[in-house]
Amino acid sequence: MYDTIVVGVGIAGISTAYWLKEAGQRVLLIDKEGLLAGASGAAGAFLSPRLGKGGALQRITNEAYRFAIDFYAKSVPEALFQKGLVRIPKDEGDAKKFETYRKHCDIAYRWCDSKDFSFITPTAMQYGAFYFEHSAFVDPMTVAKALTASIETEWGIDAKPLYQEGYWYVGEYRAKHIVLATGADKPPVDMPYITIGGVWGERVDVKTSADIPVTLHQKLSVSANIDGIVRIGATHVRNDPRSELERVNQLIDDAIALVPALKDCQMVRIYAGHRSAVNDHFPIVGAVADTEQAKATLKVPSKSIKPESDAIPHLPNCYMIGAFGGRGFVFAPLMGKIMADKIINNQPVDASISLDRYLLRYLKRQ
Ligand SMILES: Cc1cc2nc3c(=O)[nH]c(=O)nc-3n(C[C@H](O)[C@H](O)[C@H](O)COP(=O)(O)OP(=O)(O)OC[C@H]3O[C@@H](n4cnc5c(N)ncnc54)[C@H](O)[C@@H]3O)c2cc1C
Repeated sequence: MYDTIVVGVGIAGISTAYWLKEAGQRVLLIDKEGLLAGASGAAGAFLSPRLGKGGALQRITNEAYRFAIDFYAKSVPEALFQKGLVRIPKDEGDAKKFETYRKHCDIAYRWCDSKDFSFITPTAMQYGAFYFEHSAFVDPMTVAKALTASIETEWGIDAKPLYQEGYWYVGEYRAKHIVLATGADKPPVDMPYITIGGVWGERVDVKTSADIPVTLHQKLSVSANIDGIVRIGATHVRNDPRSELERVNQLIDDAIALVPALKDCQMVRIYAGHRSAVNDHFPIVGAVADTEQAKATLKVPSKSIKPESDAIPHLPNCYMIGAFGGRGFVFAPLMGKIMADKIINNQPVDASISLDRYLLRYLKRQ
């Protein structure tokens, strides 16, 4: 008997479980495979700010980014590599956009050029670049092990949660609350109002003695060199006929074009996974709606019904978190905290990330 069962032990489920446990709950984490078996185990886990024209997605991403760096520094300092990030435009068109982004950048940065970082191919730096001194990346497994150290876990259970007489059951386990943190997989509770899509991706670790003191992000990311290992990522695979190895070799070639000292690097390990996302690219946090009841009672919802409205019928104590796209390690600490506050204190979730937004869009289309 638990207060909450969290289904899915990626970074979304882990962060939620961490905050629930911090608040005193008895939590069980369940995964059909194991720790970080999904996208979270594949991530380069770069913590990079979002550039843009100051819209809501940029605001929320960068709030999560600041929160994440602070969170990992306090909770898992041994997993955090705060090496800074050089964010380089891909081409002249991108460089023009960067001019606008500079005005709207809400994260402290310094504008830099090829004189600042001589290990980067000078032509790549011809338009200048953002330098985010506090950016970082984390080691996913170290984070996962530290945050789950005092939380009960069960592996090898393909959860199909059932609700009966006030409790959620997953096999022999029961809890008052259930959280679906199932990444790009089909949610194990009926949710016809939302489609969780995703993009397959690969990244690679290479062994090298190249002196790379900071992380670079251009059309791909190249991490700072930590103990002779550099992370290079990531692919975004959509109808690509090439093999995994061909794509990864291309990644390495692109990395060498950016940092010539990587010329003699050796491939150590390829990682791959399915990033989960929804079509508006915001994360999802919130209570799972009772679709049939919502169809019956709300029909076409009036404009006054907003996400998180009391008028929206929800399944009892059932929640979902995820759709973090390519920024799971950025979003998870803050989103996990928001999820825990919702479960424990019924704290409303910001409309832009509330799961309810998808129910309302679905009802309008019926
Ligand atoms: C190649 C690559 C590079 C990336 N690089 C970065 C990066 O640099 N920075 C960054 O922040 N993010 C990055 N990401 C994105 C990040 O990995 C994801 O956003 C994040 O891991 C998603 O976490 P999650 O917990 O939602 O999903 P997942 O990690 O996929 O976890 C979902 C878990 O749910 C389990 N599950 C599903 N259904 C069930 C069920 N019915 N019962 C039991 N268990 C179930 C799965 O086994 C899985 O373990 C990258 C992703 C990829 C693929």
